[in-house]
Amino acid sequence: MKILVTVKRVVDANVKIRVKPDQTGVDLANVKMAINPFCEVAVEGAVRQREAGRATEVVAVSAGPASCQETLRTAMAIGADRAILVKTDVELQPLAVAKLLKAVAERERPMVVLLGKQAIDDDSNATGQMLAALLGWPQGTFISKLEFGDGVVTVQREIDGGLQTLSLTLPAVLTTDLRLNEPRYASLPNIMKAKRKPIEELTPEALGVDVTPRLKLIEMREPPARPVGQKVASVAELVARLRDEAKVI
Ligand code: AMP
Repeated sequence: MKILVTVKRVVDANVKIRVKPDQTGVDLANVKMAINPFCEVAVEGAVRQREAGRATEVVAVSAGPASCQETLRTAMAIGADRAILVKTDVELQPLAVAKLLKAVAERERPMVVLLGKQAIDDDSNATGQMLAALLGWPQGTFISKLEFGDGVVTVQREIDGGLQTLSLTLPAVLTTDLRLNEPRYASLPNIMKAKRKPIEELTPEALGVDVTPRLKLIEMREPPARPVGQKVASVAELVARLRDEAKVI
């Protein structure tokens, strides 16, 4: 069983992002980039399946500029066997990524495509769902557990009301919640080994996919700065100020 796992290169979660002065997006100049945390969970989940003998191969795929190679190396240092980079400098939106992933899935014929539930840069939470629709495969989103059976995968989903268990026929599209696992730190020998693993390069044109953006960003703004807090001396003062100044009670 082959697992295709997707990895997106995003601004590191610890970086405080800045909006560009012309409000056309986030300033990426000299900003530390990293693998999207949900994708890291997906890679760990896929590698654990191979280590347990249920998957035979884990293939990492990323779409974007040449720098995504670094993200693919991270995935291979965690344990992915090989990688595919769909190279493009066009800014990719979820529908374009889903179409690219569909084309890659049709070439690779995996039993599972495992994605992060969302990318922390655009927070779209859409690519996995779109991919499942385009492939016509069942989807299990926000999964926090998975177990393979004969031709099926049983997943536990994190939903508003609690946990939902679904049984899906394979092949299927799954997206990971953070609680699926805790990704390992890649060891130095594995980082070195990852440097020798192959990255195949494809292009949207070679896959026959039009990645022209369909959505237009009108404006991006920083959230309004929060006013500074004030300390009150007593509950009585708090109640008085809520009533007389803030007029909320
Ligand atoms: P999104 O729908 O943008 O929130 O992304 C959901 C998931 O789709 C991410 O966690 C990734 O696993 C995958 N994904 C999105 N964009 C890309 C990309 N450019 N390359 C590889 N995977 C991606």
